[in-house]
Amino acid sequence: MESLPLEIHPATQYNVIRHHVFAVFERLHDIDRALAVVSQYEMPKHLFRKWYAGLKAELIVYEEERDRLSLSPGLDAGVKADFSGIRNGAAVYIDVTTNLDYKSLNDYYDVIRRGNRRYEIALVDTNRESIEFIPLRFPLCPICGQFAHYVLMMDRPESGAYFFASESQDLVRCCVYCGTMVPVSNFDYLVDSPLYSLTTALEDEETLPQNFDQTTFLQSESVPVVTFFEKVSGLMLSGLTDEETIFDPRNDEEEIAAKLIWKHPLAEEFLDDYLEYELT
Ligand SMILES: [Zn+2]
Repeated sequence: MESLPLEIHPATQYNVIRHHVFAVFERLHDIDRALAVVSQYEMPKHLFRKWYAGLKAELIVYEEERDRLSLSPGLDAGVKADFSGIRNGAAVYIDVTTNLDYKSLNDYYDVIRRGNRRYEIALVDTNRESIEFIPLRFPLCPICGQFAHYVLMMDRPESGAYFFASESQDLVRCCVYCGTMVPVSNFDYLVDSPLYSLTTALEDEETLPQNFDQTTFLQSESVPVVTFFEKVSGLMLSGLTDEETIFDPRNDEEEIAAKLIWKHPLAEEFLDDYLEYELT
């Protein structure tokens, strides 16, 4: 059993173990044997579980992408990433996680503000050994300098031939810190309204699956819309809204509200469920 002096800070201890694990992996090219290193060190059980899972995720990324992305596990102090590498000719930092709930966008504020390198989170499913790369291309607010968000806002379907679709969309840069909402561009694509699809799905009770979940349904309807507009605009979206008609019984009037039906997993903590904005 390797024993490090007790007064060593856990972060330092982690770096020692990580270095050891990667050294063994470089020699043997075997994830399990490299991970066996972790149990040679004394540590509390919860740290063992956490570090073991984290290093396993890192090794999966390293084994899978080392050559393609020229990954290097050694980094300068103060860099909040697990690897540096090269993607499409540009330098990139990659931070590995097994769960996006552990990550907050604010942790990356400094590196993104410096803006000299692309930054990506590698989300690893250690059971299926699959990796999803999530680029952190959030804009900074030109007014207050904090993180802002691009939100694609769709108008609601009108009656007529396209009663099921949005016919006009605004791409808006929203800053939750200073409240700025700036239209960046406007589109007039014909896009199926996820909220309309939801209404239709709910009306047909017989075909509705027992475990039907409205939020999941809206998210899966949203994904192709988000992908499409990210491609068209070249920007990364933090949210997608669809207009919801809310009946106010107090004055017998209908109100239109922009409901966030999809949020980028790292933008969730910043975006409310509704946005106040009148589409152009
Ligand atoms: Zn701002």
